[in-house]
Amino acid sequence: MIKCQNLSKTYPLKKSEGYRALKGLDLKIEKGEFVSICGPSGCGKSTLLNILGFLDIPTGGKYLFKNTDVTSFSDNQRSVLRRQAAGFVFQSFNLLPRLSAQENVKLPMLYLGKNQKEASAKAAELLEKVGLADKRENSILELSGGERQRVGIARALANEPEMLFADEPTGNLDSVNSAEIMKMLAELNKKGGMTVIMVTHDSKLASLTDRIVKIKDGEVAV
Ligand code: ADP
Repeated sequence: MIKCQNLSKTYPLKKSEGYRALKGLDLKIEKGEFVSICGPSGCGKSTLLNILGFLDIPTGGKYLFKNTDVTSFSDNQRSVLRRQAAGFVFQSFNLLPRLSAQENVKLPMLYLGKNQKEASAKAAELLEKVGLADKRENSILELSGGERQRVGIARALANEPEMLFADEPTGNLDSVNSAEIMKMLAELNKKGGMTVIMVTHDSKLASLTDRIVKIKDGEVAV
């Protein structure tokens, strides 16, 4: 599904030549895998995830998605692909705090042109799936951290993406909630066949996934 060849990313800096966050990285991820991208802070994990999730472009190398070279896609082409193919779960949840759980899950569907009724029905179904049927109407402020992240997962699934990207999804959670979120990601992968790509600096969490890709200084460590 994903093939990166000699991928590099250099961030421009005002005072020097730029910072090389990725330095010629090769990576393949098959459909249906549950992979963690693991390594110390600053090694380039989020940079890689942003490229894989069509949020950013590399400065060198190639990114093939389902055998299509998406490396030089325009912003517009990338955002279409992103909305269709990628769901995101963030460490800080990135939910709208004053809206209800249901409204948060509906938003990405409304952006894609689904009508209110369909979006409400699908949001209810997804919130039930993540065990929050009874908290649908609660505002995000009325939910615990673990519950917020479950809303985050439901929202990421709203447009039925082919891949789920999770950037330190349990970083703000205690160990009990953390375990629950990991279980949920594993279930989505095992039962739902979802390709799940998770970034973490925590090797214990990484060991719960099927494959660990270790990154060191912008390269895949061997
Ligand atoms: P990780 O997710 O592994 O912590 P990142 O991918 O966020 O690492 O960052 C890799 C390196 O690139 C870091 O040294 C970081 O400071 C640098 N970096 C990230 N984003 C930018 C940016 N927009 N401009 C300049 N440097 C950046």
